[in-house]
Amino acid sequence: MMMSHPTPGQGASSAAELLQMKNVGKSFGALEVLRDIDLTLHKGEVLGIVGESGSGKSTLGRIAIGLDLPSRGEVLLNGRDVLKPDAREKPAEKWRMQMVFQDSLAALDPRYTIADSIREPWVAFPGRHPANPNAAIDDLIDAVGLKPEHKDRLPHQLSGGQRQRACIARAIAVEPDVIVLDEPTSSLDATVQAQILALLLRLRSERGISYILISHDIGVVRTLSDKIGVLHKGRMVDFGAAEDVLNNPGNEYTQHLMSAVL
Ligand code: ADP
Ligand code: MG
Repeated sequence: MMMSHPTPGQGASSAAELLQMKNVGKSFGALEVLRDIDLTLHKGEVLGIVGESGSGKSTLGRIAIGLDLPSRGEVLLNGRDVLKPDAREKPAEKWRMQMVFQDSLAALDPRYTIADSIREPWVAFPGRHPANPNAAIDDLIDAVGLKPEHKDRLPHQLSGGQRQRACIARAIAVEPDVIVLDEPTSSLDATVQAQILALLLRLRSERGISYILISHDIGVVRTLSDKIGVLHKGRMVDFGAAEDVLNNPGNEYTQHLMSAVL
């Protein structure tokens, strides 16, 4: 049964806590990739995850949206344990979490026009299908700063920045609660990177979407994040309000990361 409000006695969970990870760990065979991960994402918040290549960022993002299962620990969405077998059998809730990847060319079907790619999640989640899909596509194209003529193009006919805008349009088409952005600007040059970050900032204030913004680049993460988590060798070595982590890094590794941007 779905509950529209938190039930008294449910413990620490409240409606404002969108996503929680408690003691999450992940191993691939003998390789321990994530260890003792605890984090909370509140509604409307942007959580930046920074760490060097191989630190476990993408694995964390995939577990957050249910693309991968943790080996240990709990993942709660709106206070509900999404790993319980009966919750796993309710894919209807999966629209709440969307993902945007670094490689926009790989993320889009090369045979689909941009409009058809944006339509895809409505096929996967019929409950989120808008009454007027053509008008909704026009709105989405406009919202991400694409032009009407881009609708009928194929992915390879757009620039990298335009393709990433299309991926963002597809992600917001079902009006999700959270978008996990895994290195969304890492393949883009500095000017386009700044434009995409500005777009994400605007969509956040217009639509109240939460992001988990994953990047190896602390300079990218600091532009958007309310909270920052620093991953190092699969452990969250720093986690807190962005200004605290940035101005007063409690951990030696975070200090090392900060020295690279200052
Ligand atoms: P990041 O995104 O920070 O670069 P990843 O989460 O991609 O890190 O990877 C963390 C570690 O987990 C790496 O050592 C990587 O090789 C390993 N890893 C990731 N996915 C798998 C997998 N499916 N099977 C085995 N090892 C994996
Ligand atoms: Mg990665």
